[in-house]
Amino acid sequence: MTDTASRHDKQQDQNVAAHDVAAPATRPEWAAARRIVVKIGSALLVERGSGQLKSDWLASVMDDVAALAAAGREVVIVSSGAIALGRHMLRLPAGPLDLEQSQAAAAVGQISLAHAYQDFARARGLTAAQILVTLGDTEERRRYLNARHTIERLLALKAIPVVNENDTVATTEIRYGDNDRLSARVASMVSADCLVLLSDIDGLYTAPPNSSAAATRLDVVTEITPEIEAMAGDAGTELSKGGMKTKIEAAKIARAAGCDMVITSGKVDNPLSALTNGAAATWFLAPSDPVTAKQRWISGQLEPKGVIVVDVGAEKAMISGKSLLPAGVTAVSGGFDRGDVVIIRTASGHELGRGLVAYAKADAERIIGKRSAEIAEILGFAGRAELIHRDDMALNRALANGPPPQPI
Ligand code: GLU
Repeated sequence: MTDTASRHDKQQDQNVAAHDVAAPATRPEWAAARRIVVKIGSALLVERGSGQLKSDWLASVMDDVAALAAAGREVVIVSSGAIALGRHMLRLPAGPLDLEQSQAAAAVGQISLAHAYQDFARARGLTAAQILVTLGDTEERRRYLNARHTIERLLALKAIPVVNENDTVATTEIRYGDNDRLSARVASMVSADCLVLLSDIDGLYTAPPNSSAAATRLDVVTEITPEIEAMAGDAGTELSKGGMKTKIEAAKIARAAGCDMVITSGKVDNPLSALTNGAAATWFLAPSDPVTAKQRWISGQLEPKGVIVVDVGAEKAMISGKSLLPAGVTAVSGGFDRGDVVIIRTASGHELGRGLVAYAKADAERIIGKRSAEIAEILGFAGRAELIHRDDMALNRALANGPPPQPI
């Protein structure tokens, strides 16, 4: 047993399962996952100094992908690396690039990236397919459905979709920015069973492992609590581009879509086989209740535009399947319009879920804490009684005894 494992036994947090002290074994979630999204980051794929593709490593990953495909599992790859490859080919200086430089680098590097996947896939009897998406492709429902159909069809044709952000046309305001969240949105879009984030670190630690000797890796996370979020620290504290913070954001999106997520080290060859052999990792397990297509869309694809804080009574009501009424809201923030997605937060700061809000912020501010019967008088028009209707809500927790989710 490793030192990490023995220290981990002290972890008593109720959201974190005790460490499995038996010999490493395949987690049941991994064994059962039929549709898998694998996120590969630039730091793993491209040598920092030379800007060369780490071909041997990628070959080992593609061996794993071929083995999974041979076992009847569907694999979607979300790969970064376009900018890292292209900046070297364009001889751009080291250090942060401005937007135009990144776009230029991506335009050059994406060709090499796609070629590499094509070659490595072909050598294993597989066919790679390139999909470049922009934020609008997942935010706008028609385009989202279109992208989903294309990926579904490719999988049906036994191709391996390789997804990246279309960095050449993405601007600062309209980009995902990091492939952690992009991969979670893709996982949500295709109803994947498991999202694998190959990282430079083998999971989520209770503190930054390189600065704290007491840091322990969590094996399993079953709920994203404020404590878990705090462990992630700020963006960019890890070597990888997104840092642990964007990985936690990715976990929220994946879990809300009913998809398990795992962070494991990509610094070894054959990292997916390693998972089969019980590699060190942090598993973020999705709640087991069914998720409707609409809930997936609400929680996974849309950028939240504000936050609504609810009281304990409203929290209980929502968990039992009820809508959110203005009376149960204590505060609103952000800049949301009617129909936007907002985060629903409890008084203790816990993210309860997300929903489509029925009122713009200016109106919401005036009716919170008030009875629904007063809405017409306060606003001068008769709006909906609910601030967020239960059909427009995707909660992070299982419904206690509410009605089954409404299909769309
Ligand atoms: N899409 C970017 C690229 O291909 C990378 C974004 C990320 O690393 O998260 O270079």
